[in-house]
Amino acid sequence: MQRIIIAVDGYSSSGKSSMAKQLARTIGYRYVDSGAMYRAVTLYAMRNGMIDADGQVDTAAIVSALPMIEIDFKVDGERQLTTLNGEIVEDEIRQMAVSNNVSPVSAIPEVRHRLTALQKSFGIEKGIVMDGRDIGTTVFPDAELKIFVNASAETRARRRYRELLEKGVEANYEEVLANVVERDHIDETRAESPLRRADDAIDLDNSAMTIEEQNQWLLDRFEETVKRLPK
Ligand code: C5P
Repeated sequence: MQRIIIAVDGYSSSGKSSMAKQLARTIGYRYVDSGAMYRAVTLYAMRNGMIDADGQVDTAAIVSALPMIEIDFKVDGERQLTTLNGEIVEDEIRQMAVSNNVSPVSAIPEVRHRLTALQKSFGIEKGIVMDGRDIGTTVFPDAELKIFVNASAETRARRRYRELLEKGVEANYEEVLANVVERDHIDETRAESPLRRADDAIDLDNSAMTIEEQNQWLLDRFEETVKRLPK
């Protein structure tokens, strides 16, 4: 069967990663979490004193360090573990400290250019589901299936809060909500490839849907798309 590219974009904590991951598993495609790549660059910058305690970002230092930052994924059974210069940083990049700093780092054009090039290289052979903010607009503008996921900020913050607690990460609901709202704002208003719905994307508001319903919805969209492909 012909393999396609699936772009799942949307707001932070909209549940897009879980859906994208599950679809990839069901249809035997590769899954790539592009947000994890921005988080890993942010972690590198934090560890190397390029972001201070007030969140002040040293853009020049980050840009000159980019050639020293290798990001990849290591497959571990059903999990994809993000690596930074060979070290598994999957858990560390999910901490609130990284969430609080990631959007300003993601707004740096040189960071975006480097990660976009890497993301495109993952899609060369198609058969990929990638989630993020600009996958359908910038990384894979020709993706055969594009989804744009949204839910209210409160719904998304509640989900994220629960997820953090389940992982044993200390969290405060108000702080999580503030982070979700702030990240949305920075992601939507940055100059370079902002969070934007692709004109040809299919919208999904999953506020009132169970995880199973979302997974089925996405699988249905995939099957429709494949059926419509020229033979
Ligand atoms: O998806 P996740 O919430 O982990 O993404 C973390 C951050 O990475 C986002 O808030 C956004 O600033 C950035 N990002 C991006 N472009 C992408 C994916 C993520 O700018 N394609």
